[in-house]
Amino acid sequence: MVRVKNSGFTALKLLKQFVNKVIAGTGAGTLFAKIPTGHFYPETLECPACGSMPHIRKPRTKTAVTMDIGAFCAKETVLSCPHDQTVFASEQLRSLVPERGTCGFDVIVEVATSSMWMGR
Ligand SMILES: [Zn+2]
Repeated sequence: MVRVKNSGFTALKLLKQFVNKVIAGTGAGTLFAKIPTGHFYPETLECPACGSMPHIRKPRTKTAVTMDIGAFCAKETVLSCPHDQTVFASEQLRSLVPERGTCGFDVIVEVATSSMWMGR
C-alpha cells in the first residue's frame, strides 16, 4: 500500500475525481456495455494446507480503474477449501487493484506523485 504523507486528503480527493472522470468518459448509461471485462481466477488449484480441491464460490464483479487498462469490469472467481474454509482469490487481480478498492495501485501512485508536484 502506498502511503501519502501530509497530502493524503488532497490525493484521495484527486483520486476520486480521476476515477469519476475515467468512468464518466466511458459513456454514461452504456458503462457496462462498453468497458472491457477481465476474468480472473485463483492461481491455486489445490489447497496448500490439506491438498483438497477447492470449491467454486459466488463470483465477484466490480468496476476497477488502472492507468494501464483504464476502466474495466473485473469478474473474479473465488475458490474456498471445503475442509478449512481457506479462501483463494486471484493474485493477478490483487496485484492490480486493492481487494476492497476500485483504483489500481498504479493510479494511487500516479495521484500521489502528481499531488507532490502540485505542492511545490
Ligand atoms: Zn484445505
